[in-house]
Amino acid sequence: MPARCLAQHERGGARLPRSDRCTRSPVVMAECPRRRRHRMTDAVASDATGSPGAFVAELSSAWTGRPRFVVLDDCFDGGSRFLQCLQAWRADPHRCTQLHVITVSTDVASGCTAPALAQEIGSTWPPITPNPHRLSFEGGQVQWLLMPMAWRDALRELATTVDAFVLSHRAAGDASASRREAKALARLARADSLVWCSAASGPDASAMRSAGFVQAHDHAGRWRHAPSFVPRHGPSRRAAQSPDSAPVLVIGGGLAGCAVAWALAEQGRDSVVVERHQALAMETSGNPAGLFHGTVNPQDGAHARFNRAAALEAQRAVAIALAGHGVQGSVQGLLRLEDQDNGWPAMHDTLQRLGLPPGYVQALTAQQASARCGIAVHHPVWWYPGGGWVQPAGLARSFIERAGRRTVLRTGCAVESLTREPNGWALRDASGRLLAVSDTVVLANAGDALRLLRPLMPAASPEAWPLQKLRGQISMALTGESGALDLPRVPITGAGYLLPPIDGMILFGATSQAGDDDPTVRDSDHRHNLAQLSRLTGQTPQINAARLTGRTGWRWTTDDRLPVLGAVPDVNAALGLTRLEQPAQVPRAPGLHACTGFGSRGITWAALAAQITAASITGAPMPIESSLLNSVDAARFVVREAARRARRNA
Ligand SMILES: Cc1cc2nc3c(=O)[nH]c(=O)nc-3n(C[C@H](O)[C@H](O)[C@H](O)COP(=O)(O)OP(=O)(O)OC[C@H]3O[C@@H](n4cnc5c(N)ncnc54)[C@H](O)[C@@H]3O)c2cc1C
Repeated sequence: MPARCLAQHERGGARLPRSDRCTRSPVVMAECPRRRRHRMTDAVASDATGSPGAFVAELSSAWTGRPRFVVLDDCFDGGSRFLQCLQAWRADPHRCTQLHVITVSTDVASGCTAPALAQEIGSTWPPITPNPHRLSFEGGQVQWLLMPMAWRDALRELATTVDAFVLSHRAAGDASASRREAKALARLARADSLVWCSAASGPDASAMRSAGFVQAHDHAGRWRHAPSFVPRHGPSRRAAQSPDSAPVLVIGGGLAGCAVAWALAEQGRDSVVVERHQALAMETSGNPAGLFHGTVNPQDGAHARFNRAAALEAQRAVAIALAGHGVQGSVQGLLRLEDQDNGWPAMHDTLQRLGLPPGYVQALTAQQASARCGIAVHHPVWWYPGGGWVQPAGLARSFIERAGRRTVLRTGCAVESLTREPNGWALRDASGRLLAVSDTVVLANAGDALRLLRPLMPAASPEAWPLQKLRGQISMALTGESGALDLPRVPITGAGYLLPPIDGMILFGATSQAGDDDPTVRDSDHRHNLAQLSRLTGQTPQINAARLTGRTGWRWTTDDRLPVLGAVPDVNAALGLTRLEQPAQVPRAPGLHACTGFGSRGITWAALAAQITAASITGAPMPIESSLLNSVDAARFVVREAARRARRNA
């Protein structure tokens, strides 16, 4: 029985209005009802999910007309299960607008073997590192989130709500493990979410019942979430999700704002990007070129995890910008030298221990590294095969182009104030003229976000997040004036960086100075960059600092060196709470979101940071684990401040 009918059946079998009948799905209509019954019975008798055709037919009747439908599946099967969903969605004129399929399986690491899907995905299949990977189809209308981890871990790490669970594994362990799993499913479920399993899969029936699921009386493997009460959650980041009505106003047209416009478009939301300059990316994102790459850390803490997930997203975004938007750059790899030479064997062991695949990072001996980059390297290095360089303004433009008609640019429009008014958030210019109003605003205007927030905060309270401003200057020389420097074929980074020649220029840098507001390009900074270049390459080129050109910019950096993302905390309301232990408990300013604090990593972070911001606005599945989300959540500093207050008062 198709899923939509199932719910109706349990309500007493009332007739559905014709337009709502499950026969609307052509996938269902294509089968004769008798045949369909047989397939369903086979599926339940053996393994409900072993017959993917059956569950896909049911799914497509459940998603009819829905704006977003999220499927959580515990079986990978070389990608063929996802392919079935994709094909059913493509063939269904009554499909949901957005389909998200989340596949949880360690088998993902063995690669996509379903031929039609493998061909479609081609070289964009990611190196499977131990973090979620998002693949986008049909301009973002179908998204596939791969979670290469154990089922139990994934249930804890998922930040989403699920409309349909497809379970083919048996809940591991004893009755209490079964109860825990059923509770975890209930935590992700909406009222009315559906669960497909069989007698041989999923938690046991009593665990499902006590978690609030109701079983279809004629199908042991079909459950519907029907909680008898709605649990009282504390105020959660989910509460800040915004209505789908007016376009989202994005303040700032640098990498952050442009990427947010694209990520919103992928989730089906319109936006208006409001930028004070006459063109995009005129401030920090205006350097001629910059690097993107991951990092390796033996502890694999939040930085390494976020940089890894972000670098893989950046690689995809840059590859698209290069191939389809005429942007300058390269995704041909990048060498990273460490400050200390820990020796190749130790580096290799770290990669083995962390399970990082060679498609993401490799440890190279000095000899291998020299062969890769074409100049002498004297220590072992990290090699990021998908890292590289790009012109940031070009990348920003490509995001806007990819957002297409879903975004509108308003350049030459400086936002002086942000106020909460009865009809939404109002943006005004310096003369008090109303620029725009919307339920939803994203602060993607780097350090200026805090200035706009200040009047909304209690007078003596600390800032919503701490941001430090670090001046940076890059240096550039004509290749003919680079003093016989041996130039690398790929970017090299470490303490400082050097890019391969671009249009007859070499670019290297950069300085980092706190509390320095000087916008002029200084010879002293060029000399600093030259000294760094010598240490990085082991060469001492005869370059005259006075003949170098350069550019200055400001990195806005948090004290934990991670970005500020998602719903803006309501600091006023938070001050009144006695218990604040995690960001999910922090009250949020409704409809107000941040995407800022990119520090020295905006090129690497923009695509992933924007997806996280868009997910926090639309309620789409988060592309990172919830434990990592806590480390980049805009409300984390409010939690830390509350802990400090509690210690002081203890
Ligand atoms: C010297 C240097 C080298 C760097 N190298 C690298 C690198 O190699 N790799 C890397 O990943 N990152 C690098 N970075 C960092 C990277 O450039 C930044 O992280 C990134 O550009 C920040 O993007 P953003 O959109 O947050 O900020 P910005 O690019 O500053 O964008 C903010 C935008 O908001 C607009 N705005 C602000 N206030 C308002 C307002 N009130 N109304 C309307 N518009 C407003 C601004 O005009 C601006 O366009 C480097 C930075 C520097 C300084």
